[in-house]
Amino acid sequence: MALPKIDVPRYPVTIPSTGEEFIMRPYLVKEEKILLLAMESQDPKQIALAIRNLITSCIEGGLDIDSLAAFDIEKLFLELRAISVGEKIQLQTKCQAEGCEHPNAVEIDITDIQLKDFDPADSIIKLSEDVGVTMRYPTIDLLGDVEGDLDSLDTLMSIVISCINTIFDDENVYDCKKENIEEVRDFIDNLTSDQFQLISKFFQSTPVLEYDLKFVCKKCEHESSYELRGLQSFFT
Ligand SMILES: [Zn+2]
Repeated sequence: MALPKIDVPRYPVTIPSTGEEFIMRPYLVKEEKILLLAMESQDPKQIALAIRNLITSCIEGGLDIDSLAAFDIEKLFLELRAISVGEKIQLQTKCQAEGCEHPNAVEIDITDIQLKDFDPADSIIKLSEDVGVTMRYPTIDLLGDVEGDLDSLDTLMSIVISCINTIFDDENVYDCKKENIEEVRDFIDNLTSDQFQLISKFFQSTPVLEYDLKFVCKKCEHESSYELRGLQSFFT
């Protein structure tokens, strides 16, 4: 006998860095199992892969996950977690009082977790009276490729070139994906140092998930408060 199938609800979701809208469904039991296994492994690579696969499966409409910034993926995962399991996260955390370290169970609301340092206007950078660029945030893959020496000028240069979306002036908008990469490089090479600083500043304030955690220790009644930053800090 064919058993009934239950319709899965669908929810609108917005990609933070681009403002694009998609439809997302909750993850299913079979999908959650894979995620839990990855989390048990505590291997950041496995967890990242599981999260990425989960988002790809649950978002409809051809989202290119490789084009997203790390904080996009983290925010999407939180929203996916909220519609799938609920908006509360239970967390085990230690009392901050000296000598106590008592483990406390605290509950936080996913909707209170903010993307700090995120302002879509930051991605539009005016370089002169009539010329400017629009930027996108580095993807996880891109940062993975250049890991280690983010401070070197060569590295910064290749990140900048990969992350320029458009160059614009009074009359035209040039899509850098369609332009010759050597010409884009040439454009950057011919900026003044001050102008280049304006662009590199964009990469210095990476948005991050943040939550001010406050709780009273059940053992010593000390009030602890500290910031949780980044997705991993919410699932330990
Ligand atoms: Zn305590």
